[in-house]
Amino acid sequence: MGINVVSEQSYTIGIYIRVSTEEQAKEGYSIPAQKERLTSFCASQGWNNYRFYIDEGVSAKDMNRPKLQLLLDDVKTGKINIILVYRLDRFTRKVKDLHKMLEMLERHSCSFKSATEPYDTTTAMGKLFITIVAALAEWETDNLSERIKMALEEKVSSGERVGNIPYPFDLDENEKLISNKKRTAVTLDMADKIEAGKSASQVAKFLTKTNDDKLEWHPTAVLRILKNPALCGDTQWQGKIFANTHLGIISRERWNKLQQILEDNSLHRNREVESIYLFQGKLICSQCGSILSVNRYVRKRSDGSEYQGVVYKCQVCWKQGRKMLTIGEYRFLDALYEYMRNVEIHHIELPEEKDEVSVFKEQLQQISKRREKYQRAWAADKMTDKEFDKLMDETREIMDELENKINQIQVPVPTLDIEEIKQIIFYFNENFHKLTDEERREFISRFIRKIKFKLIAQPPTRPDKYKKGKDLVVITEVLFY
Ligand SMILES: [Zn+2]
Repeated sequence: MGINVVSEQSYTIGIYIRVSTEEQAKEGYSIPAQKERLTSFCASQGWNNYRFYIDEGVSAKDMNRPKLQLLLDDVKTGKINIILVYRLDRFTRKVKDLHKMLEMLERHSCSFKSATEPYDTTTAMGKLFITIVAALAEWETDNLSERIKMALEEKVSSGERVGNIPYPFDLDENEKLISNKKRTAVTLDMADKIEAGKSASQVAKFLTKTNDDKLEWHPTAVLRILKNPALCGDTQWQGKIFANTHLGIISRERWNKLQQILEDNSLHRNREVESIYLFQGKLICSQCGSILSVNRYVRKRSDGSEYQGVVYKCQVCWKQGRKMLTIGEYRFLDALYEYMRNVEIHHIELPEEKDEVSVFKEQLQQISKRREKYQRAWAADKMTDKEFDKLMDETREIMDELENKINQIQVPVPTLDIEEIKQIIFYFNENFHKLTDEERREFISRFIRKIKFKLIAQPPTRPDKYKKGKDLVVITEVLFY
């Protein structure tokens, strides 16, 4: 109820499309393919008013792209209210650039949407989400690129359709998969619900109630649809995966994460119980490494009023006769804040390979020293030429082996720079406390795979008491999806 309320119809959408020279050859990334997908996305949202901004043959390594600049100028002058992309990496691959642009968009009340990823930058959750996803994607890009390149080489050459038509798709006149608008929307919603912590059977129940074809949905059908790599543009056939055979409906990164979530769900959770607990399935027992289970309890205060709480316990420790951990949920929440406030770079940055490299480098140094010693001994006539040659050959072999090992491991380790990590942490600390309980649970469910913690004994809370204080929960590691 206000004069400033703008109806959705009057929005002008700036559709930003980018292809790199390399990608132009690939199926699904062509400009017409992105254009088609984004136009139908607009139609599904009821947006009729859109303009295209197309950068052809440019990479997303910086913002120095003519049509991107034009788009941003149009945002500044209020001509564009929503930016729509096929996926985030069309817009940028640099977290720093993303921050700059998001800030700018916010100043000009422009929101940002991705057709294949659940970003809504108008909420605290959305901002947090996009920042972390972008950071992790940037970090992973270099790691993944080799594997993806190899998969690309196996691209189905004939382009002929094989197998069944996956649920969110239809066949076009050229026998290629194209997204079916309605079933794509249903599938994206399924993925979203799973990411937000719902189980396959909850999703199936929802679909049975809401679908108009009077079908009874089964959890296995939900799983079959979501596990199909066709969702991210690949074709699975006879146990092999052919990459980029058609335009997917979700990004590869999102599909990969979804698989991890589905796998974790099948291992660690009771599928029938709705997950309403923040850390369900995420906490690893500090005594035995099992996943903590969760219980709700109700207690009475001395005045008779009731209060509710949630505790995490280790059933395995209990069954095996160890001291059972019983820790209230709020203590983990405090610990998570504390962890994010003090998160150190090495938590995010250093892969284990680095240690390995340093071991080999150390060994290499030792060998070189030894060779110098042999040389000195030989020069001082303390060994024969024959002895010297033998020792030099032996050590040369070891050196070659070590150098090979180091070269193999030292695929350049992609790192987030400190500034970017600070940004993520800033966004987390800035936004997390603004989330509702439901959103927090969703956030943790989406991003956090496992949390490791330790307990630190505390002194009595009052000097005149002997009973020691509650152990302090300290999170030692957070594993992200
Ligand atoms: Zn345990």
